[in-house]
Amino acid sequence: MAQGQFIPPKRTLMGPGPSDVSQRVLDALSRPTIGHLDPEFIRLMDEIKELLQYAFQTENALTMPVSAPGSAGMETCFVNLVEPGDKVIVCRNGVFGGRMLENVERCGGTAVMVDDAWGRAVDVEKVKAALEANPDAKIVAFVHAETSTGAVSDAKAIAELARQHDCLTIVDTVTSLGGSELRVDDWGLDAVYSGTQKCLSCIPGISPVTFSERALEKANNRGSKVQSWFLDLNLVTAYWGTGAKRAYHHTAPVNDLYAFHESLLMLKEEGLENSWARHQSLHEKLIAGLTVLGLTVVPPEGERLAQLNTVMIPEGIDDATVRGRLLADYNLEIGAGLGDFAGKAWRIGLMGSACTEDNVRFCLESLETVLIDLGADVEKGAAVTAAFA
Ligand SMILES: *Cc1c(COP(=O)(O)O)cnc(C)c1O
Repeated sequence: MAQGQFIPPKRTLMGPGPSDVSQRVLDALSRPTIGHLDPEFIRLMDEIKELLQYAFQTENALTMPVSAPGSAGMETCFVNLVEPGDKVIVCRNGVFGGRMLENVERCGGTAVMVDDAWGRAVDVEKVKAALEANPDAKIVAFVHAETSTGAVSDAKAIAELARQHDCLTIVDTVTSLGGSELRVDDWGLDAVYSGTQKCLSCIPGISPVTFSERALEKANNRGSKVQSWFLDLNLVTAYWGTGAKRAYHHTAPVNDLYAFHESLLMLKEEGLENSWARHQSLHEKLIAGLTVLGLTVVPPEGERLAQLNTVMIPEGIDDATVRGRLLADYNLEIGAGLGDFAGKAWRIGLMGSACTEDNVRFCLESLETVLIDLGADVEKGAAVTAAFA
C-alpha cells in the first residue's frame, strides 16, 4: 500500500469527545518545540497551573496536568489515595463509575457500590445510607458528569456528606470542567481529575488534576508505595511542583501544553460563568429542536448535562444508518449509545468550541433531513424553528 501524508477530513464533532479544536489552539500546537526544562517552559508551566486553578475554582497548590488522557488522571487519583485494604464507596450510574470500581480493586481496596439507573443522577440518599452503614469507609468516588448517559450529579451534596463522615472524595470532572458549574474549593472536593478534549476543546491526551491538602495528607502518609511509578505524585511533583527547582521526571508533551495553555486562556477570556451559561442556553435550544424531531431526552429535568445530550432514537429508525449518513453526507459526528443504550440512543455533544448556535442549527437541519428521508413525519425546517423561536 502506498503511504502518504494523512490529511484528516474536516468534521464537526458533536459526540462525547473529542470536541472541535479551534484554529487558535491548533496554531499554538505548531509553535517551535523547546526543552521541557527551559526557563521559558517553566514559566509556561506556572501559567498553566494558575489558569487551571481558575478553571477548577481552587487554590490547591497541587493543580497540574498529567501527561496522558483522562483515564490517567483517574488512575492518578486512585493509585495515590487508595491503599490496600481501604474501603471506598463507589457511585455507579454509567460506564465511568464502573471504571472507578476497576481502579479500586486494582489498588487492593474494597469497593462498596452505590448503584443508580443509567440516565439518572447519583442518589444522594443512597450515598448517605452507604456512609452510615460503612463507618470505616475512607473515600467516596463519583462521576460529576456521566458522559455515557448525559446525567449530572450533585457534587456539592455528595462531597458535603463525605466530609461529615470523614471521607475524602475522588471526583470525575472530565466532561464537566468548563461546561458545567464546578467549584472545587467551595464544594470541598478532594481529588479531582478531568480531560482536555471535552469542554476545554483542546487536543486529547492531557488530564488536569487537583488535590486538596486533606487528600495530599493521605497520599503522603501511605504505608505502601504507590504501585505506579509514572503516576506517583511524590515523584511527578519534583517536576510540576512549586519552587524554582524542577527535576526531570518524564519529558512533558511540550507542544501539547502550548495548546492546553491556549485553551485555558480562551476559557479565561470568555469567563467561566459565561461558558457555563453558553452551554446551558444552547442545550435548551438543541433540546427544543430535537423534541420536534420525536427524540426524547433520557435524564429527567434537573439531572441533564448541557454538554452531552442523550436522546432516545424513535421507533423504526436504525441507529447506524443515521449516524453513517450524518458522517458521510454532512461530516457530522454524533455519539452512539453505550451499554444499556447501545442502538437505542444517541449522544449529542455540545462541548467547548463545538457549542455554538451554528452547530445547533447544523445538527438539527442535518438530522431532520436524514430522518425525513427515512420516512419520519416531520415538516422541513420545524426543528430549527422550534429551537430558535
Ligand atoms: C472521556 C471520559 C473519561 C476518559 O477520558 P480519556 O481521555 O478518554 O481517557 C473519563 N471519564 C469521563 C466522565 C469521560 O467522559
